[in-house]
Amino acid sequence: MTGLGIAQAVPPLAARATAIGGSPVREILAVTARPEVINFAGGLPAPELFDAEGIAAAFRDVLAHEPERALQYSTTEGEPVLRAALAERTTARGLPTDADDVLVTTGSQQALSLLATALVEPGDTVLVESPCYLAALQAFAFAGARVVAVPVDADGGGIDPDALDELVTRERPKLLYTVPTFQNPTGRTMAGERRAAVASVAARRGVWIVEDDPYGELRFEGERVPWIASYDGAQDRTVLLGSFSKVMAPGLRLGWLRAPAALLRACAVAKQAADLHTPTVNQLAAARYLADRDLDAHVARVAGVYRERRDAMLAGIADALPAGSTWTRPEGGMFLWARLPESYDTTALLRGVVEQGVAYVPGAPFYAGEPDPATLRLCFVTQTPDEIGEGLRRLAKGLR
Ligand code: PMP
Repeated sequence: MTGLGIAQAVPPLAARATAIGGSPVREILAVTARPEVINFAGGLPAPELFDAEGIAAAFRDVLAHEPERALQYSTTEGEPVLRAALAERTTARGLPTDADDVLVTTGSQQALSLLATALVEPGDTVLVESPCYLAALQAFAFAGARVVAVPVDADGGGIDPDALDELVTRERPKLLYTVPTFQNPTGRTMAGERRAAVASVAARRGVWIVEDDPYGELRFEGERVPWIASYDGAQDRTVLLGSFSKVMAPGLRLGWLRAPAALLRACAVAKQAADLHTPTVNQLAAARYLADRDLDAHVARVAGVYRERRDAMLAGIADALPAGSTWTRPEGGMFLWARLPESYDTTALLRGVVEQGVAYVPGAPFYAGEPDPATLRLCFVTQTPDEIGEGLRRLAKGLR
């Protein structure tokens, strides 16, 4: 009879999972693993740019010189040497940070789950950008949140502060989740004055800001915009999330969060239940890498290559999309967002496009609120400029 109890417990979660992750889009995109498909859907950093040799050397060094430490259990908050290095990098970028302010996480995706556990009770409201990073929607949905979209202006300003103020007053959300720099999925960056305005609304109304920044270091042009966490009023109510996935390698599964002490403690308790700690050897190897190598120089090389790839996509996109389409022009990151004319439905069109040997992600799943079915996301960093050109020619055929 115990099976009955389990059967009763499973459906709500399973239903939440399939509503988001088990869609026909996922089935169509499964074929994009075939090598002949030019995959603009994936969102994968360019693997040929990984500093495999440097990372291998860091692992070898750690295992040769401190094997007993590297292979042992560690503390939940993270290896002190890595926390110190992350605090130093954050401070160097204008946000004074101590090692104690940092919690190392297993990818920044885990930081989202920990925050959902620490901050969200079932039924609580979470505000997100419209559109929003898909796996953040999943993390908040799994925690039982009611996820509400905040209007964002399309021409790059970012979250509309008046609309945010009104929503915060009406919905009393626990937190606002934002990817203000080179957002996934749109590639857009929130302007500085918007960041200040968002910080001021959060301070006035008492709401947490979760500022997710895995892409900010991948800037190809333009001026860096300071983190929301550094604006007046936001300092003690912003959680800043970082990751090595896009600047070192996603397979390391290394991310971190910077939060005020009480929230950091709550996240550490949640992390104990999740995985005790992030792999010690990976943390020590990353710290070794930061000490021995020049990560910033590596990131500058990667950004240079990504810039050429973005330019290749921008050069070919007008001919690939139907007349009347619009698209973003990201100053960094990995993604470009396009909107086809009104009558187009990118979900319905995907099968025919994949038959031509190219893939995108339809925009609809990225919306917490009313989806715009004419939108799509293209990742421009995984292929060479020639492959991008060919992919766009195939896309043109598929959309015809
Ligand atoms: N946040 C955003 C906005 C992302 O795009 C991603 C990765 N696609 C993540 C978090 C998770 O990254 P990771 O867990 O690899 O650090």
